[in-house]
Amino acid sequence: MNTREMFKRAVAGGYAIPAFNFNTMEQMQAIVMAAVETKSPVIMQVSKGARNYANGTILRNLAKGAVEYAKELGCEHPEIVLHLDHGDSFELCKDCIDNGFSSVMIDGSSLPYEENIALAKKVVDYAHQFDVTVEAELGVLAGVEDEVSAAESHYTKPEEVIDFSTRTGCDSLAISIGTSHGAHKFTPEQCTLVNGVLVPPPLAFDILHEIEKKLPGFPIVLHGSSSVPMEEVNTINKYGGHLEAAIGIPEEQLREAAKSAVCKINIDSDSRLAMTAAIRKHLAEHPGDFDPRQYLKPARENMKKMYIHKIVNVLGSDGKLAQ
Ligand SMILES: [Zn+2]
Repeated sequence: MNTREMFKRAVAGGYAIPAFNFNTMEQMQAIVMAAVETKSPVIMQVSKGARNYANGTILRNLAKGAVEYAKELGCEHPEIVLHLDHGDSFELCKDCIDNGFSSVMIDGSSLPYEENIALAKKVVDYAHQFDVTVEAELGVLAGVEDEVSAAESHYTKPEEVIDFSTRTGCDSLAISIGTSHGAHKFTPEQCTLVNGVLVPPPLAFDILHEIEKKLPGFPIVLHGSSSVPMEEVNTINKYGGHLEAAIGIPEEQLREAAKSAVCKINIDSDSRLAMTAAIRKHLAEHPGDFDPRQYLKPARENMKKMYIHKIVNVLGSDGKLAQ
């Protein structure tokens, strides 16, 4: 299904839909298990990097399998969106639309304003013929996500959002208010030390509220919203990893954002961390294991636990299926 009804309900209900990236079967299984157990709608998203890694045809069929799998697990009416994350060209978006994606993002945020509008409008005009919903982006997020990277962020300008959403016809808008991509969202210098923990600068809620005032009820999307749990980082480092100064967005701030017009929150790094932590721990404790199922099973369990935690304690989308 596309995101239209899902977002309408999320904005009205003061919660957000989880958008989890996936590249592997185990991530997909963990996402579906978590969504079914919590009775939550879910967006499964695929980046250009995921397509390069796993092949677009395989990912698409995994997503089709996800719907059948959810039904097998006892969910009669699963609400699953297959979404393209950070489409960077009309051609890529068209390819996904032609091949069964129910939602796409066109990210023209690095382009000059007018070019961003022209590109987004072209994708919207094509996508809407097939009832595929489109996310566009205004403002630039810092950080690295697959092939998307920017050295510094530029907050979304609230004075542009009405013009942009009207002229593009986009269904949702990704904004920049201080989140960023990757597991190293902030440098320690940008943070304040509170009780031995580095606390990053708060999200720009003033900008978010200004945007909400300009576009009442319009679905807003937050990218780069992993919290980078210290527990997983510590496990990785304890068992031979070397992650330095990994810092994410505090969950309380995401919970706060989910109550507003923010109705889609993207989480990718936390799944990577959960998977890596479980695999490192398992292999360190069972040096004789070499069957991938032995270490991918705890990895899948750990991701599922993380997804459920996000759905229930951060986004509030549990129990929100329409039927
Ligand atoms: Zn992103």
